[in-house]
Amino acid sequence: MNFEVSVKQSRFLQKVDAACQSIRDYEEKCYLEERLNDRVVPAFGKIGMLGCPISKKYGGLGYDMLTYALAIERIGEEGASLRTFFSAHTSIGQLVLQGWADEEQKKRYLPDTTSGKSVMAFALTEPAAGSDPASMTTKFEKKGGDYVLKGKKHWIGNGTFAGTMTTFAKDASGKISAFIIERGLPGLRTEEMRNKIGLLTVKNAEVYFDNCIVPKENLLGKEGQGLNIAYSALIDGRLSVAAGSIGIMKDCLNECIAHTKVREQHGSPLAKKQLIQEHIARIAVNIVSSRWLVYRAAAARQKLHEYVEGIKQERDWLSKLGRSNKEYSALRNEADSLAAMAKFHATNCAFESANRSVQVFGSFGYRKTARVARHFLDSRATTIYEGANEVLELKIASQILGDDYRAY
Ligand SMILES: Cc1cc2nc3c(=O)[nH]c(=O)nc-3n(C[C@H](O)[C@H](O)[C@H](O)COP(=O)(O)OP(=O)(O)OC[C@H]3O[C@@H](n4cnc5c(N)ncnc54)[C@H](O)[C@@H]3O)c2cc1C
Repeated sequence: MNFEVSVKQSRFLQKVDAACQSIRDYEEKCYLEERLNDRVVPAFGKIGMLGCPISKKYGGLGYDMLTYALAIERIGEEGASLRTFFSAHTSIGQLVLQGWADEEQKKRYLPDTTSGKSVMAFALTEPAAGSDPASMTTKFEKKGGDYVLKGKKHWIGNGTFAGTMTTFAKDASGKISAFIIERGLPGLRTEEMRNKIGLLTVKNAEVYFDNCIVPKENLLGKEGQGLNIAYSALIDGRLSVAAGSIGIMKDCLNECIAHTKVREQHGSPLAKKQLIQEHIARIAVNIVSSRWLVYRAAAARQKLHEYVEGIKQERDWLSKLGRSNKEYSALRNEADSLAAMAKFHATNCAFESANRSVQVFGSFGYRKTARVARHFLDSRATTIYEGANEVLELKIASQILGDDYRAY
């Protein structure tokens, strides 16, 4: 396995770095004012980052999952708030369509999202169905060939302004299906969720489907494939959160190095104190251990992607993306398991590292104007969303012990 960065990757990562630098001050300003950073789409659209792992056929850059993870890692340095925009837009947004949509749907929706004309979101969670999406209560029924959705989702990232989102609903028999939703559909309404403790440039929404009429062409995958689609999307979501967590830790480490070499107490720089060095060493180990897990998970996800794209020439390929297909199942389990481990480990490490960094900064780390303070507040969400870490821990254990020992 080779994780060396190629010249081509490195050139792209330099562009991502420049885009991050170009919005850094404005991102902080928006964070403090708790508003959306309206320079993200133009700055990252210019370098193609709004469609980094999406095929060139639909206006993307066609990069592999490892390159995408590296870009997300760099974006993570600017904070989980900025990174969450990309997780919602690309990881659990565009990649779901790239993987599961038919050609017509991809042509219809993806180019507008890679150009930045339309931003994406993913609406799965409901007030009574968080860690257990199978218990969702949003319903759908067929009427005159179209679908009518009734229910409510919440916490949907980019949800206040996304032009396109995927969502999930249950029919009378309990089968869950996935749908592509466009802003403007009759019966669709979104409302901003306020008073969050972090991720202050992310716009999370409650999404209401009030007898929302969804055209039959907007069914994603086959009827009844909804949970399969949702769980496959979470592999990408987890990978992006894990990759972004490395960025958080890198930025925390850099901030701590700079601060402790300058700040003096008891006659010498903090960097000379052994207990401060413990914090620095722990953050450094957290970075390296998380990094290799993330890169391995990205490589496994890339193999899954190549397999899925390969079978799309076959008739009824959608039916082959299930448990009965042993080759697909093996690749998916590997990607799923590694992404869960990477997310579990990297987010725990990121929150711990941010917490240590605030400690290292003392009172200077206790205002939202400090980068480490924002990392602390933002990384808190990363152990909750895209699969809360307790549930991921159980998932990792049951993948080892077998389904008979599933504890959730
Ligand atoms: C900032 C933010 C952004 C989000 N963005 C999105 C988004 O874009 N789209 C979307 O669909 N959702 C989104 N979510 C929702 C997120 O995915 C859920 O919050 C998450 O899945 C957990 O669900 P819950 O909050 O209902 O907690 P619960 O499921 O109620 O869990 C509460 C606690 O119980 C634990 N727990 C649950 N079940 C078990 C079990 N069987 N055994 C042991 N422990 C258990 C959990 O680990 C957790 O610690 C977002 C959430 C946040 C906070």
